[in-house]
Amino acid sequence: MKKVFLLLGIVVLFVSETKAQKLPLGPKPSKEPCTTLMGKSMLPVAIDTTIGRQVANNDLAWENGDVILVKFMDNVGSQQVRDMIMRYAKTWEQYGNITFKFVPDNTAETNIRVKLGSKEDRLGHNSQLGIQCNDIPQNQQTLNLDTSDFIDYKSYVDQYKNGGPFLQYLKNKGTDFKNYTYRDLYRDVIAFKDPNVKWNYNSMQGTTTHEFGHALGLLHEQSYPKGIKWNKDTVYKYYAKYQGWDKQKVDYNVIGASDIFYTNGTSYDPLSIMHYPVEAWQTVDGFVVGLNNTMSEGDKKIVAALYPKDKKVSSLAVPKIEITNIGYGEVKTDNVKKGIIIYPSFDIKTSAILGNVYFVARLTTEDGLYYLPTTNENYSWNKMAATYIKMRLLPSSKASYNKNGQKNLELFFPYKEMPDLAGKKVKIQFSVYQDDVVNNRYQKLTFNFLSSPLTIQK
Ligand SMILES: [Zn+2]
Repeated sequence: MKKVFLLLGIVVLFVSETKAQKLPLGPKPSKEPCTTLMGKSMLPVAIDTTIGRQVANNDLAWENGDVILVKFMDNVGSQQVRDMIMRYAKTWEQYGNITFKFVPDNTAETNIRVKLGSKEDRLGHNSQLGIQCNDIPQNQQTLNLDTSDFIDYKSYVDQYKNGGPFLQYLKNKGTDFKNYTYRDLYRDVIAFKDPNVKWNYNSMQGTTTHEFGHALGLLHEQSYPKGIKWNKDTVYKYYAKYQGWDKQKVDYNVIGASDIFYTNGTSYDPLSIMHYPVEAWQTVDGFVVGLNNTMSEGDKKIVAALYPKDKKVSSLAVPKIEITNIGYGEVKTDNVKKGIIIYPSFDIKTSAILGNVYFVARLTTEDGLYYLPTTNENYSWNKMAATYIKMRLLPSSKASYNKNGQKNLELFFPYKEMPDLAGKKVKIQFSVYQDDVVNNRYQKLTFNFLSSPLTIQK
């Protein structure tokens, strides 16, 4: 009898040693929401509501067929996690005529740079939209992924309960298990830096596909105009409490509506990979959207339409101009010709769609804060004193203006065509507007700069 008792005692001791940990307490931390800033893309512009679209920023789309160079930054991330991220990113290629070409970390010039972060650096998940990537300096990332959201925490909860290297790690560092919470556990899993980390591939797929969708120019599907009837106050309170976001950030990231132009026709798609999860309490009508981890049919369609495999140019393409290498050129008064001469200096590149541009030089007050009104109908831009040139730029063309000693773009503003400014100081603001006649969207400002003050002679 005695022997049996002793044996039982040993068994109980053994069990209590490996199963001693109580279930973690408190709520599980949730995945970070995507913080891609879309505000600029959602600003209203003059639009033609008769042409239907879908939520993608046509102005920021790459050229159809582009090979986009992508690299990982800072030598971070195991080959295993990199392989999976590349695979999920490249799923877009199945539907669109666009290539994400992953190149070595030491490649000097790339379009997209992926930074693999964690909760420790709090960069979250986000991406530049489409060709905005090209505006980011080469030493900075264009796309953040928080890999601590890709960890399979369940397997570590399991080790916590049943034993394993993670439990041993916690014991070794003298963890106080009394008031241990999920939050503590998640934090410890990240700090553990498991060389054999278990990944949650659903989360990795959903987030990676979503962020690379932004990199192709797709916007948040919940921004589809009137797609969701938000319970605004409740949503503001929630994000203030759990993310520390102010109303403006919530408007930008969560409840702001895209311009109808960017909806590209098809109807609102709650299954889109570009949709945030929406819970019943966030809406006034109890509408719910789940966590979408795979592409919807709508996602495949919009990418196929933006980047068609069966034609050279997308029917959704809009004229785009890119202005780079901006110098201030030369702005001077000429008292022989009696006027101001402006030689702006920049390089310009056009997309596959023919576009009209206006090179506009407006007069401003000496402090550069106000345009000067005019009654002159010819030297006027929206009733403000200006001189301008309209140019029709050929598709897929490049030009350099006023570079390398050349003078090949000149604007002239005669004194006699200006409002009465004799003896006063003014500045010249030079701007480039593009004119999208097909889509009835006029005067999209793409660039401007201000000169130094000039004195107007008579
Ligand atoms: Zn997003």
